[in-house]
Amino acid sequence: EDGGSDTKTYKVGIDTTYPPFEFEVDGEYTGIDIDLIKAIAKSQDFEIEFSPMDFGGIIPALQADQLDIAIAGMSITDDRKKVVDFSDPYFEAGLSLVVAADNSEITSLEDLEGKTVAVKSGTTGAQFARDNEAEYGYTVAQFEDSPSMFQEVSNGNAAVLLEDYPVIAYAIAESGLDLKTAGERLTGDEYGIAVLKGENDEVLKQINAGLQELRDSGEYDEILAKYIAE
Ligand code: GLN
Repeated sequence: EDGGSDTKTYKVGIDTTYPPFEFEVDGEYTGIDIDLIKAIAKSQDFEIEFSPMDFGGIIPALQADQLDIAIAGMSITDDRKKVVDFSDPYFEAGLSLVVAADNSEITSLEDLEGKTVAVKSGTTGAQFARDNEAEYGYTVAQFEDSPSMFQEVSNGNAAVLLEDYPVIAYAIAESGLDLKTAGERLTGDEYGIAVLKGENDEVLKQINAGLQELRDSGEYDEILAKYIAE
């Protein structure tokens, strides 16, 4: 230790149109992911620099060494584990169907025949839509960010979209979107913080230690409560 002059700075990839996890207010990044990674950095004594991008670009940017860390409401999946290492899980989520508020016709995947399903590139929603497209006979329309995908259902171009239920609940409550979730939740998963696979054990250990510290101190619960109403 020599007075902190060797403090590392990590580039952190974020998906900035993903409230309540990450979004911008008055030019500042805010949200659950932003507060968590800032608190982890503080506890583990490293610096961070945010790098906002479309979700679909985040894992490629880790692979291209343009990012050190990604925190983006990213679900831990076996496919992704082939290229990234995940931290301990920090949030439970999963996919729901989302339709226009006045749509009473769609309540399950069986109702999607001939419909258009809007998804966001690179997400678990996009993967789920592709995996089930042939069976249920819908067409997939892909968008680069969540607001564009929401818009597509709001304006009636697509009948339904797939989104993580905590995210859509927040979007409906906060932005007054005329949308609602339909039917049962389709999947359950957990969010993790990602680093490039195999080369980042040190930072991954720090992230997990920081997460644990936040859980023990109660700061983790405070951060969640700030953004998510009970
Ligand atoms: N949780 C979803 C996924 O990992 C969506 C993430 C996002 O859109 N930022 O694919």
